[in-house]
Amino acid sequence: MDKKPFERPVIKKLNAGMPSKFGLQVRHEPITEIDGVPVSSLLERYGSPLFIYSEKTIRSTFREAFRAFSSRYPNVLFSWSYKTNYLNAICKIFHQEGSWAEVVSGFEYKKALENGVKGDRIIFNGPDKSRADLQLAVKNGSLIHIDHFDELYELIEVAKESDAKPNVAIRINMDAGIYPAWDRFGFNYENGEAWDALNRIMHCENLELAGLHTHIGTYIMSTEPYRIAATKMAELAVGLERKFHHHIRYIDIGGGFASKNTLKGGYYPGSDTTPSFEDYAEAIVSVLMKADFHPDHLPLLILETGRALIDDAGYLAGTVVATKRLADGQRASILDAGVNLLFTSFWYDHDIRPAKPVSDQTEETAIFGPLCMNIDVIRKSTIFPLLKKGDPYVIRRVGAYNNTQWLQFITLRPNVVLIDNSSQVHVIRREETLETLNDLESTPEHLNVHK
Ligand SMILES: *Cc1c(COP(=O)(O)O)cnc(C)c1O
Repeated sequence: MDKKPFERPVIKKLNAGMPSKFGLQVRHEPITEIDGVPVSSLLERYGSPLFIYSEKTIRSTFREAFRAFSSRYPNVLFSWSYKTNYLNAICKIFHQEGSWAEVVSGFEYKKALENGVKGDRIIFNGPDKSRADLQLAVKNGSLIHIDHFDELYELIEVAKESDAKPNVAIRINMDAGIYPAWDRFGFNYENGEAWDALNRIMHCENLELAGLHTHIGTYIMSTEPYRIAATKMAELAVGLERKFHHHIRYIDIGGGFASKNTLKGGYYPGSDTTPSFEDYAEAIVSVLMKADFHPDHLPLLILETGRALIDDAGYLAGTVVATKRLADGQRASILDAGVNLLFTSFWYDHDIRPAKPVSDQTEETAIFGPLCMNIDVIRKSTIFPLLKKGDPYVIRRVGAYNNTQWLQFITLRPNVVLIDNSSQVHVIRREETLETLNDLESTPEHLNVHK
């Protein structure tokens, strides 16, 4: 039998069954494997730190969400939010599952095309579409969601120059009970701006009004805002039928469903408080089914769900760099991944687990990343097992936004792997090297002369 490593004894007050300031019972079940692949072997083979995605989790989460909506409503479509995670392999899994692409820049638009998405299955959102972007989207028959009047006027010009009649929608912002309301994107519902835009489009023979779009916010922890949003969208659609006898083809409710992560300061874990896909679906669909649509023209319901579909499928594994005591005696662990790789640690209290069995000993610990920067804090204070230098860890639920918002800051970005349904591991993004960066740089000749 292996000799157990020495552990310094600690005295801890027992509070059986009582919530502590860290919420209810704190457990540190280790995550030793992901989809049957040992974390230690992943780190050995692909380096530390390492992003790991589970194809199985992506597909099962998507199917659960799709079923929640399609069992309640006859005509449902998901469109994958590229900015949430635009690793090509991840996007292609969603496309295989039937998702269209939802993009918010010319770069993302081209990424979707290169991923094999047909132009007429790309939804082009966002406030910054260049004229060239609009021309390309018109040529490809994409769904262009107009954000503001300047874009509307430019698009009318672009449409006139081409023979095409682009399919458009407007993005609508509204008071859906979320404060501060996101009113910087799209046309406002309450002050009549949305109708101004709709009237302009309906009286323009160069544009085809195909749908209505909204995206009321992100990480929305209640279903009520969706009920309000669906009500206002349906009202506009019914108003268009009444005034113009025009039947829009779709209502796009955007994204924003909360993932199971825990927001900073949340008392209960997100996994206990987040509404289910069924809850969100019920709120939205019950409104649409009740609305006064002509029965032959029930609009397609589009969802642009991002974080709730991918967060659970992503893991960040790594190694403890060091442990130390802060000046006030608090224990601190330094990990080899920080806010450079885990942008979402600014919002979430991420769930960090040991990646090998540990004893029950825990202590209040600050968890830092490796950067030489004061802001590099993953958890300011959490009850954490006594991991040592060299011990592996796993951070759960990191699939949304981290591989798009990560920074090449102080360190290089690591490998990303995908574990497929038969537990085969594939590198889906190679680690960066010094050459990756130097490739983009050039030095004026006179600076190459050494003194
Ligand atoms: C970011 C974004 C989404 C995805 O939002 P989530 O909160 O990740 O679900 C969907 N639609 C639009 C327009 C977006 O900007």
